[in-house]
Amino acid sequence: MREKIESLIETLVPPEVGASSQLADSFLNSYRELLEDGDSYPPEITFPALFDFIVTAEYVKRMVADSGWMYCSGHDYSEGPSMYFPFLKTCPRCSVHSGSKPTAKSNKPGSDPIGDISGNATLLILSKILEYTSPTTQICKNLF
Ligand SMILES: [Zn+2]
Repeated sequence: MREKIESLIETLVPPEVGASSQLADSFLNSYRELLEDGDSYPPEITFPALFDFIVTAEYVKRMVADSGWMYCSGHDYSEGPSMYFPFLKTCPRCSVHSGSKPTAKSNKPGSDPIGDISGNATLLILSKILEYTSPTTQICKNLF
């Protein structure tokens, strides 16, 4: 058993320190400032929002290209026409503003990249929480 655990430990790596880590730090610093100012943002809302923010940034980093954009005429919106790069199969503005769901090409990554992105985002958030709550605890992931 001890050999198996030592073998497993050799395959563990810490979370990557990259753009997503900087994004999480900025988000959490702003969150701390809001709390210090007396604003109330419950963690059960804040941390899922951070997760979505990190995942969307990773989608953008991996997927944005010259093709796959959609045009929204914006007839009913004061801001006028716009271009979007949707990750879901609809216009993000129309679905939020009017509840309509005009069909669009999805630019979402495949399921394997989504699994990697989601796992890394979860690991990153947990490591950031541990930096504050238990600084001597190290969190890692298995490469396999
Ligand atoms: Zn639209």
